[in-house]
Amino acid sequence: MSMDALDQLYREVILDHHRHPRGRHDIGRVDVEASGLNPSCGDEVTLQLQVENDRITDVAVIGRGCAVSTASGSILAELVKGHTVEEARQIAEIFKRMMHGEDPPAEADLGDLEALTGVRQFPVRIKCALLPWVTLLDAAVARAEGRTETTVTTE
Ligand code: ZN
Repeated sequence: MSMDALDQLYREVILDHHRHPRGRHDIGRVDVEASGLNPSCGDEVTLQLQVENDRITDVAVIGRGCAVSTASGSILAELVKGHTVEEARQIAEIFKRMMHGEDPPAEADLGDLEALTGVRQFPVRIKCALLPWVTLLDAAVARAEGRTETTVTTE
């Protein structure tokens, strides 16, 4: 596939998630809630996780922001449900490294996240793509410390 065709595919994946964001439902019981803010773009996201025996049984993603942050949150909702908190944390760490130019491990199942690597050519958008995942990492820390609410701001 040519680079232009790949860019086009990435754009379509991002637009699809932007137009039809996943995870915008009421999950009922919320075990940990994390809010993230990206001041450089004005993106806001709140993740609500339902966790049973350390497994994420449901996730809601509430937020407003640009297409990239919205798409990234939507992909997060699809990817982390059913995973343990630790597995979700590992996906977030892999994605962070990908956005800074590293290749993901071959065995990693990243779903539509790979489409967001197209954003790397626009450095100002990297924080938008990372916001929901940085927020997820903060949620994992809060959960480990027995807190149920947390807030993080990208630097
Ligand atoms: Zn943004």
